[in-house]
Amino acid sequence: MDNNQRELIIAQNQQPDSITDGQQHLSQALSTHQRQLQQRAVASEQQEDSLVLEKYGVARTNDHGLVQYKMAGSTENKILFETTAGSTEFAQSKHRLDAITQEKINDLKSKYHVSFSLDDENAVRPWVQSKTHADRLVPGAMLKARAPRLSELMGVEAALQSSQPSQFLAVGKHPDQQIGLKFYFLKTPTFGKSTYDAGLYAADEKGKPSVFFEPDLQPDRPITAADAFQKHEDVKTSIEALAAHEIAHNAEWNMGLWDPEKLKPIAEKLGWTTSTDSSYWLLKGNSGEFFRLTNDGLSSDKGWIRCDQKGAALANDGKPVADPSAAPHLTNTEVRQRALVRPPTDYFTAPDEMLADSLMLLRVGEDGRKELIKSGSEVYNVIKDFDQAEIDLRFGKSADGNSKKVRLPNGNLVDNNDDSRQVISSFDKSLI
Ligand SMILES: [Zn+2]
Repeated sequence: MDNNQRELIIAQNQQPDSITDGQQHLSQALSTHQRQLQQRAVASEQQEDSLVLEKYGVARTNDHGLVQYKMAGSTENKILFETTAGSTEFAQSKHRLDAITQEKINDLKSKYHVSFSLDDENAVRPWVQSKTHADRLVPGAMLKARAPRLSELMGVEAALQSSQPSQFLAVGKHPDQQIGLKFYFLKTPTFGKSTYDAGLYAADEKGKPSVFFEPDLQPDRPITAADAFQKHEDVKTSIEALAAHEIAHNAEWNMGLWDPEKLKPIAEKLGWTTSTDSSYWLLKGNSGEFFRLTNDGLSSDKGWIRCDQKGAALANDGKPVADPSAAPHLTNTEVRQRALVRPPTDYFTAPDEMLADSLMLLRVGEDGRKELIKSGSEVYNVIKDFDQAEIDLRFGKSADGNSKKVRLPNGNLVDNNDDSRQVISSFDKSLI
């Protein structure tokens, strides 16, 4: 027996003094019953709404029986589809969302040669400290992945569209190779807690370079960089920017920057150098000083210290400090302000990270490029040249020595001709 039935019986059992009274009681009980039924409908509708948001990143609204589905993280306000409310509406719409999601996966597979994790798939076993030998790393517990949300696929799609050909593995060595990155959406964080709040570029369980997204990706996160810019939020809140950063790491890999000797020349151009014994990356300051991170820099905002060219910690007066942890520490913001080459974003734990974020800004569209140029036209050109070098590695140059493909300011990869060159140069002129 449910509460509504009980309510009716109580009302009938009250043995009212008059028939009118009894009718009144009954009609009150009935209206309570109806109200409760309505409330229950609202409650289950809310459950359905949150399921749709959680599973697809889609917002569902019901306005007097007109049910609309939109991307929760999009500022475009575009309707995905609409339908009329009814007992079968939710099941049918869910079916439709599943189909749209699968279609998007198939699309991205055929267009960019990338792949995505499935529900409950084994992703990777991260290396963890051994319990018996603290100095040893051993494979930890298997991390499980889930299938991507529609919103995440759309964000990754935007990143792929403006990052071509960086999604290909070994782009230079095997120009014909058509194998792209795999994107994993983790159910459990890589290090027991979400250290990155974002993504990670690493080899998966099968040893294949892959992109991992941590589980704390909110379903209503801005989808594209344009969505983040529109909301006046940090571009890195968008799925597109997160994905573009990780894809940029694959570009670095393709360009051989895993070799420190190859990374060094571009790192120098971005304001980095190595300590005398090459054991640290040092960020050069604008007054001839050096800064370095005292830890892995993954979470600490205060890991920066001033140091000499050997990497030895210095006090404010420039005198050596024996214990780096006792040296004065600086925040990211302070170091960014004092850097010889201003890092274009707040994330610059190492030169390859600064390069990945800079490439991301170059690629995610015109607003990103406007952000990148704030670090100066020299940085802008270094990043643009790096991008072009990777494009040339895949597509080559014509007999006259010109690149076959170029990237437009909106991120699109197009043929190099008078028209595209005109678009690029007039945009670049508008930046200065
Ligand atoms: Zn990174």
